[in-house]
Amino acid sequence: TITVGVLALQGGVVEHINLLRKASTHINSSESLQFEFLQVRTTTELGECDALIIPGGESTTMAIVARRLGLLDPLREFVKVQHKPVWGTCAGLVMLAEQAAATKQGGQELVGGLDVRVLRNRYGTQMQSFVAGLDLEFLGRGEVPFKAVFIRAPIVEEIIAEGSSSQGIENGVERAARVEVLGVYRGQGQQQVEGGENGEKGDIVAVRQGNVFGTSFHPELTDDVRIHVWWLRQVVDATWHGKLVAANGS
Ligand code: GLN
Repeated sequence: TITVGVLALQGGVVEHINLLRKASTHINSSESLQFEFLQVRTTTELGECDALIIPGGESTTMAIVARRLGLLDPLREFVKVQHKPVWGTCAGLVMLAEQAAATKQGGQELVGGLDVRVLRNRYGTQMQSFVAGLDLEFLGRGEVPFKAVFIRAPIVEEIIAEGSSSQGIENGVERAARVEVLGVYRGQGQQQVEGGENGEKGDIVAVRQGNVFGTSFHPELTDDVRIHVWWLRQVVDATWHGKLVAANGS
C-alpha cells in the first residue's frame, strides 16, 4: 500500500481526496498496487504517509495551526530530510516556499523545500478569482489546456539561491534538484496580467524541485484528473520499488 496524506488543518481537503481516489483508478495496478488516502492532523498520521498534499486555504492560518499541533518541524523533516513527494496547491505552495512576500501581511512561518520566493494574493481578492486555460507541457504533447482555477493565488515571483532548502545536499552528496518551471500564466482576454515584473514574461504558476511540487491554482476544484494522475505516478516511482524490496525481505 502507498499511503498518500492530505494535510487537514484547514482548507480544501476533501476535494483533493476525492480527486486522488478518481486519479488512482487511472494508475496501472499491475503489481497489486493499492492506495490509501489519509487526512493528516497529527505527527503519527504524518508518519504513516509516503507522500503528502498541502491543500489550498489560508497559509498564515495553516502555519499557526501546524505550529500549535507541533507539526511544523515534522513537516520540514518530511520534505527536506526524508525527501518524500509533496505537492502544495495555492496556500500549500506558499507553505512549501522558502520565502513569502506578502502583499498585506507580514512574515509567516513556512515549511519550505522550494528555493523560491512566492508573492501571495498576486491577482487580488476572492472576488477576482478566475479560471484560465494553461498549456502544461509536462502533461504530455497535444494535451488540451488545463482549466486552472485561481483563488487569491500566489505566484512564484523569484527563484532564489538554490541550496537554502537543503534540497541540494543529501547524505553529504549533492543532488541535482533544481527548480523547474512547469507552468506559466500569461493572461488572456479579460484576465491580462497587468504590470509587475513578470507582466511580459508571464507569471510562474507551477514549479518542481526534486520531490517538491507546487501549483498556484486548484486542480482539485475541477474534475480534471490529469495533474493528480501525473503526480501519483511520481509518488509510485518514488516509493513503490522500495516497498517491494522491503516486502521481499531483500
Ligand atoms: N491567499 C491564500 C494564502 O496566501 C491562498 C489562497 C488559496 O489557497 N486559495 O495563503
